Amino acid sequence: MGLLALGTPLTWEETKPLANHIRDHGITQFLKTWDTWKDKTGKGLLWGDEIEYLVAAFHDDDKTVKLSLRQSEILEKLQSVTLDPALDKYRPPGCPAIPTFHPEYGRYMLESTPGFPFSGNPCALVSVEADMRFRRQIIRSHLKPHELPITLTVWPRLGVTDSPFTDPETMPDPENSSSKSIYVGQLLTNPHARFPTLTANIRERRGSKVDIRVPLYIDENTVVPEGSKAPIANGHAGMSGPAKPEAGTPYIHMDAMAFGMGNCCLQITFQAWNVHEARRVYDALVPVAPIMLALTAASPAFRGQLADIDARWNVIAASVDDRTEEERGLKPLKESKYRIPKSRYDSVSLYLSDDERNKPEYHDIDAPINEKVRERLLKHGLDDKLASHIAHLFIRDPLVQFSETIDQDDDASMDHFENIQSTNWQTIRFKPPPVNSPIGWRVEFRSMEVQMTDFENAAFSIFIVLLTRAIISFDLNFYMPISQVDENMQRSQQRNAAMANKFFFRKHIFPPDRPLARFDLNSRPVSPPATSTPTTPSHSRFSSAVPNGHSKVNGNGTGNGQDGVERCSSRSSSVCSTPIENEYDDEAEEMTIDEIINGDGKNFPGLMGVVNAYLNSLNVDVITKCELRRYLDLIKYRAKGQLVTPAVWIRRFITSHPAYKKDSIVNDEITYDLVKAVDEIERGVRPAPELLGKDYVGSGPTGCL
Ligand code: ADP
Ligand code: MG
Ligand code: MG
Ligand code: MG
Ligand code: MG
Ligand code: MG
Repeated sequence: MGLLALGTPLTWEETKPLANHIRDHGITQFLKTWDTWKDKTGKGLLWGDEIEYLVAAFHDDDKTVKLSLRQSEILEKLQSVTLDPALDKYRPPGCPAIPTFHPEYGRYMLESTPGFPFSGNPCALVSVEADMRFRRQIIRSHLKPHELPITLTVWPRLGVTDSPFTDPETMPDPENSSSKSIYVGQLLTNPHARFPTLTANIRERRGSKVDIRVPLYIDENTVVPEGSKAPIANGHAGMSGPAKPEAGTPYIHMDAMAFGMGNCCLQITFQAWNVHEARRVYDALVPVAPIMLALTAASPAFRGQLADIDARWNVIAASVDDRTEEERGLKPLKESKYRIPKSRYDSVSLYLSDDERNKPEYHDIDAPINEKVRERLLKHGLDDKLASHIAHLFIRDPLVQFSETIDQDDDASMDHFENIQSTNWQTIRFKPPPVNSPIGWRVEFRSMEVQMTDFENAAFSIFIVLLTRAIISFDLNFYMPISQVDENMQRSQQRNAAMANKFFFRKHIFPPDRPLARFDLNSRPVSPPATSTPTTPSHSRFSSAVPNGHSKVNGNGTGNGQDGVERCSSRSSSVCSTPIENEYDDEAEEMTIDEIINGDGKNFPGLMGVVNAYLNSLNVDVITKCELRRYLDLIKYRAKGQLVTPAVWIRRFITSHPAYKKDSIVNDEITYDLVKAVDEIERGVRPAPELLGKDYVGSGPTGCL
């Protein structure tokens, strides 16, 4: 979550009249940062992940598992433990620092981040998993004996009313709770003033409780409410269009922010060399977001029932949808200023790079703009693309304001800017430098669902980081119309999407004067022969090489950064013939996830192809390359369908459980066994080769700290 300042929170009625003040000062604060940082070069790549956990409390006597609501006590402990220098002796080699732990929306949730950001050095990448496991281990050893940190995206029984799902038991309070939910009580939400205020103010601004509907998975014995339409054969698997229930078909209903913001995800933030690079990488990641959502899908059940979708995105979007009826287009505009097609939590609607390849025709969806803000930014000298990006974020109202911080020193604070920015929860976030900090322009990748093991969490983090390096190094072009990215966002949430669906993706990704042959696309990074010992020591730092045949260009963000990325001149001379860009070349095509990741075997190398080409361009020692290969192979084989997504694995576990009555219901007994199994898989004591491959070794027994 965003800011956690303390103070007296204002109600929606009190916040509303302050909206223009907050936006005006927010822009002043942004411009201050812009002036300081627009020409500055940062320190190059530093990056870090955020992993969110649920704390599960096992009751072996009656075979139930519940969400433990001890977040505050646990965090207090973790935060004091991490200050203890003695912990340092347990720090795995390569981990930059003792990790940090943060609160999250749910009172049963925790978040961890590395104590210091990672570098992009391949040797550092291979220690990411150890860092993640270290964090999990620290959490584990500071929980009660019957509690465990679990990285399931959605707690399958959150919000059930037939038996308690929290420890201690909580009751919904539709009269007095901040959500007014009929399913979940106030105690489910982090007690810090920010969270109940956010919940209440979203509901009040909207004018009603949030309304979340997920298509119900229909099985042989599912009780379908009277009057609903007959379920469609094969449900939503492999479908296009919205991953939402069709009118009149059965759905799972949820009515509180906790159903969305109480889910867990995996996010990655990278620091860019300068603002131009941040904007380029931001744009390139926009079409990647739905692809990675499909590959990491982990959410097949909500509120005790199997859903006919596999991923959380639309659920979170609806859980914080503060738009009024007028903004949602249900009534003519009278009080509200804009028609707004998307929730504050949704996919990106505008590319923002000033790159010439960012063409107007890609902006083919309605993205309302705060014209006053845009004018002000243009007048200050910002270009139209960046001004529009900020002005689009600034159509939103602030949701939480503390009475003590209404008037701020705009030279020393970014809080009003962050108030709007941090409640625009899009697939990618462009993060300006904080005030009085050496941290530069950053980009956050936010679409992925958290994985059950840190092996997977590390694999997806490493893949995304390497992909950003390839994007920069080879100056790749992933642009396609935003409407197609949005269509992909919906397809990516459908049941079994990674296997059953096709997705739009651009096939011609190289600059026109940069021939494909140069990128050595089909070769994998070399593996050491089984018998020989590698000559390069594994601890050696790589020295980055220029991708074959490319000249090194220095200065203005195109030179060799300290991040180890060679920035190639995109206009360097070519050796062989060049694909000509024409109308056809510009089109995105529908491809399988396997083709998008692993290539089409012809001209399109796939995202893995460019990652491999990038790795081949570096002098990485063979051992490091082999270690990286373990992670990249998880993604490769999941894209091929040889490994399943967590959503597929969880759905199979549920539907093949002896207590499952083919009625779509995920009961206490199934949940208990599921969560036990997830922990055993994570520790490597229960094999799950269909999910992780044959070679997975878990994190071992608990409690060694
Ligand atoms: P959020 O605002 O998204 O909740 P967090 O503070 O929880 O952000 O996490 C930010 C992530 O960014 C962490 O993983 C952290 O390691 C990483 N990070 C910190 N400093 C930098 C930096 N200079 N550049 C890139 N990433 C950084
Ligand atoms: Mg978080
Ligand atoms: Mg965070
Ligand atoms: Mg934060
Ligand atoms: Mg984040
Ligand atoms: Mg959308």
